[in-house]
Amino acid sequence: HASMEVEVRVMPYADNQFLLIARDVTQLTKLERMRKDFVANVSHELKTPLTVMQGYLEMLDEPELLPAKQLHKAIHDMTAQTARMQNMVNQLLELSRIESSGPDSFTEEVDMAALIRSCVHDVSLLNSEKQHRIEVSLDEHLSVYGSADKLRAVVMNLLTNAIKYSPAGGTINLTWQRRHLAAAFSISDTGPGIEPEHLSRLTERFYRIDADRNSATGGTGLGLSIVKHALEHHRSRLQIDSKVGQGSRFSFVVPAELIVQAKADAT
Ligand code: ADP
Repeated sequence: HASMEVEVRVMPYADNQFLLIARDVTQLTKLERMRKDFVANVSHELKTPLTVMQGYLEMLDEPELLPAKQLHKAIHDMTAQTARMQNMVNQLLELSRIESSGPDSFTEEVDMAALIRSCVHDVSLLNSEKQHRIEVSLDEHLSVYGSADKLRAVVMNLLTNAIKYSPAGGTINLTWQRRHLAAAFSISDTGPGIEPEHLSRLTERFYRIDADRNSATGGTGLGLSIVKHALEHHRSRLQIDSKVGQGSRFSFVVPAELIVQAKADAT
């Protein structure tokens, strides 16, 4: 059903004869469209906070436009918009860093149990508002040849999403366990769940579920594309299972060849 995009060139060949050269540019066109979409998306996402900031700055320049009691709100809004832009630029940099780095040499041994615990520790402030119960079940002797930075980005993005998108007082379950010779990670939440039509698009850059677009969670829609790319570097794929009203589960399997074989325990 997919159509092909063709670039055609006509060249003189001989008297009254022409050569018709047709080139399949489907892939090129697609890449070019993606690049344009990307630039348009970034510009659009930065434009909104900049407009808000500009509005306030103009008001500050003419104090009669800004009653003293609104000053506090203005500063609060500008701080929030700055944080939003900062978050977005950080995520864009992270995405571009992950996309442009070559395949890893896989020499670094990453202690996943320690990494997951440190991520749980780092989100405690974010979670203090939500008061989710975070349960972990980790195999302590299951390290991965990979990139600690990228795996950390994976766990942090999935964990902060579980916290942000679930109503307060939920339960978040993290597991890291052996599965035959490979290893499996999963995080499940008791959040709102995700409708099936969104599932396949969640890892696209800037994709957010409509209801979250304008919400206070202030995400960028870049988190899951970072996760996707970081996992690809570990020959792994993000699996998303979700039931509306029951919660979501994000999981991946790290293949056996990237698992550090446990050193003999005997000393
Ligand atoms: P962001 O969180 O910055 O919006 P992500 O790429 O991390 O971007 O997530 C994309 C979208 O997927 C989110 O906007 C949200 O709508 C949805 N989503 C992600 N994680 C969850 C979750 N655990 N429960 C429900 N929805 C989620």
